[in-house]
Amino acid sequence: MSDPALVEVRDLTVDYVGDNSVARAVNGISFDIKAGEAFGLAGESGCGKSTVAFALARLTRMPGLVTGGEVRFNGENVLAFSKDRLRRYRWGEVSFVFQSAMNALNPVIPVSEQIEDGIVAHRPHLGREAVRARAAEMFELVGISPRRLDDYPHQFSGGMRQRICIAMALALEPKLIIMDEPTTALDVVVQRDIIEQICDLKARFGFSVLFITHDLGLMIEFCDRIGVMYAGELVEVAPASSILTAPQHPYTRALGRSFPPLTGPRVRLEGIEGTPPSLSALPGGCRFSPRCGEAIPICMTRVPLLQPTPVTGGQAACHLLK
Ligand code: SF4
Repeated sequence: MSDPALVEVRDLTVDYVGDNSVARAVNGISFDIKAGEAFGLAGESGCGKSTVAFALARLTRMPGLVTGGEVRFNGENVLAFSKDRLRRYRWGEVSFVFQSAMNALNPVIPVSEQIEDGIVAHRPHLGREAVRARAAEMFELVGISPRRLDDYPHQFSGGMRQRICIAMALALEPKLIIMDEPTTALDVVVQRDIIEQICDLKARFGFSVLFITHDLGLMIEFCDRIGVMYAGELVEVAPASSILTAPQHPYTRALGRSFPPLTGPRVRLEGIEGTPPSLSALPGGCRFSPRCGEAIPICMTRVPLLQPTPVTGGQAACHLLK
């Protein structure tokens, strides 16, 4: 029997509503994240990855609107959570690490207060000393001396600030951490350091991760499975190990050809011709068809459905798959 899913996303649809128009940013996507699994969402900018992450945490704000589907967390319907349940869900069960730690941290408040505020809000029974001790423990966990707890965000380097955000995200022992481009603003050495630290912490505490980045190499290294999104749809889901070695969807293949290999002979990167379609003027049939070098006539008229791919044990949506 396969492991039960911690997160089940079914037919999730998110629209951005304008005065006279509606742009469908996420079009009926479904996927699971298992307990302890790192699941990545890959794809070009604007494909809907972050919109999915925000919907999972019920953080979608107008003009965005979740207009269809379900998000289940441990079997509970997140979209139907009451205000009080949602409060316990966010940070208590699902926490976040976003791209810019400087934006996530309040620059005029010592970081200790920022970590402790979250702990006090969710664990009001804890005394002052216990809260302080928990904050210090979190600092140690991410390799920063607790002596620096009362420093302000600007007194830390970019990498340390991102570590502080990870400490905040871990403070309440969540089951899922959503990481949206958590290392993008950092140089590659610090980036590697932080990813190794997250892997370590994940192995120790067993939380799941929804990992979003445009860096496919980093994602393959860190994730167990990867979902590839294009123009608001999931076009392939596969084990991370087969995304580059056995891609089943032409878009995944094209993404792989745009990515420089770290070993082996030097190869010319091909990139993907053209640009993703505007969400308010989508092509008929397969959304990738105007850019797909393998398109056949049916691609222009019929939408391909996600179907199992025995080669990888995943799924892909392409008319070429029989
Ligand atoms: Fe290309 Fe057709 Fe497959 Fe779309 S369905 S990815 S256009 S071959």
